[in-house]
Amino acid sequence: MAFEYAPAPESRSVVEIASSYGLFIDGEFREASDGKVFKSVSPSSEEVLSEVAQASAEDVDAAVKAARKAFEKWSTLPGSERAKYLFRIARIIQERSRELAVLETLDNGKPIRETRDADLPLVAAHFFYYAGWADKLSYAGFGPNPRPLGVAGQVIPWNFPLLMLAWKIAPALAAGNTVVLKPAETTPLSALFFADICRQAGLPKGVVNILTGDGSTGAALVAHEGIDKVAFTGSTAVGKQIARTVAGTDKKLTLELGGKGANIVFDDAPIDQAVEGIVNGIFFNQGQVCCAGSRLLVQESIQDELLDALKRRMSTLRVGDPLDKNTDIGAINSAEQLARITALADSGEAEGAERWAPACELPSHGYWFAPTLFTGVTQAHRIAREEIFGPVLSVLTFRTPAEAVAKANNSQYGLSAGIWTEKGSRMLAVADKLRAGVVWANTFNKFDPTSPFGGYKESGFGREGGRHGLEAYLAPSSPEGERK
Ligand code: NAD
Ligand code: MN
Repeated sequence: MAFEYAPAPESRSVVEIASSYGLFIDGEFREASDGKVFKSVSPSSEEVLSEVAQASAEDVDAAVKAARKAFEKWSTLPGSERAKYLFRIARIIQERSRELAVLETLDNGKPIRETRDADLPLVAAHFFYYAGWADKLSYAGFGPNPRPLGVAGQVIPWNFPLLMLAWKIAPALAAGNTVVLKPAETTPLSALFFADICRQAGLPKGVVNILTGDGSTGAALVAHEGIDKVAFTGSTAVGKQIARTVAGTDKKLTLELGGKGANIVFDDAPIDQAVEGIVNGIFFNQGQVCCAGSRLLVQESIQDELLDALKRRMSTLRVGDPLDKNTDIGAINSAEQLARITALADSGEAEGAERWAPACELPSHGYWFAPTLFTGVTQAHRIAREEIFGPVLSVLTFRTPAEAVAKANNSQYGLSAGIWTEKGSRMLAVADKLRAGVVWANTFNKFDPTSPFGGYKESGFGREGGRHGLEAYLAPSSPEGERK
């Protein structure tokens, strides 16, 4: 018999959400120039959390000008001084982590267990890590006195709102750039709380500017001639559009786009650990993860044993209230995303794959999708090729390592992959042949600020994290450009 769980809700009262928020420009909150606003809802209940400003092209211009003005001083501060601000921000994030975790869970729909134990610790770790680089840029391997690029325009998605903000802002600031960042329209709140943290840390005005808004705000930002660098994380379609906008300008560009990661399980893998890794790979954050292990490649001889164990494990996943500390799978971020997942899953059935999901009761309000797996999937099926960005696993089989590699690489994407085997030699040999930016062995979805992350092919280009992540925000020193 399964254990019964008592409800264990985290308290909402640790966070105070205002009924409306403005744009954060030059250290102050202000309304949009044309007064436009939009609402952010909690995807688990459809409750309106707050109303935020929709930044216009005029607001984008004001934010870029504020960032340009702030750049003069910020870029000439000694690195050790910039580091102090970044360390201060990191410590404030730690101090306010419970509040931020609850906020992120409310606005995004992801379980508190993840915001508390994954998102927030990683956000703080990122700022700590890049704070440590700020006074060591000359030793980062990019020449003796690397220079910042100027003003960075940064556009981020809704799946890890605060973590993607950290990935963008921490290296930019450490390298001496100033930023204008646009969070996604369904998850604007944690970026606005971050603006408050910048004020709390005494960060000079204009170094960080936050513009809330939809795709039109993002498009105006990346097209603005006053920015020197564009950093984008999101869909491949929008990434391509941005690449076209930036082409022919001097702007530097990094794109972190979609993925269709292969999680490869060999016949000598420890089954129970592999099952945990598969579950973590595809059901972490409701599968709304660019590097999700969304294609399971299992060696044919262990298929039955592995799938039995996986189904047993999936039957114990708890879907429901994201604020409950026992919840494994929370809400899908938006009605639009739920519709995309539903349509792709339906195409799997229509194309002949076999669908399975454990019996689970979904809440009556909000956006929900049960953890699902498809067997009998071929490489031609849409569910094997397209990014679903939801809790849906496509299972394929292979017989030899060479076939596993060929199938894993048979994708327009190249972001992540996983290998499960007992043999170190096989891990290395297979990893070497996989065209993926990150390859995990006997683990999955492990993140660390010291480790670079990024893709091949249509997963984008450029790396975030680690020493490599600084490169996107630095230019080699000019001959006369002496900088400490
Ligand atoms: P999206 O690419 O439309 O949105 C990402 C960000 O880009 C948001 O902040 C959005 O406002 C902004 N944006 C939209 N149009 C823009 C434009 N023309 N110029 C500049 N910025 C623009 O993603 P989505 O519609 O929310 O999701 C669609 C699909 O994208 C998902 O199903 C998933 O497959 C993929 N996705 C991938 C990631 C990732 O981490 N790689 C994140 C989110 C979504
Ligand atoms: Mn929201």
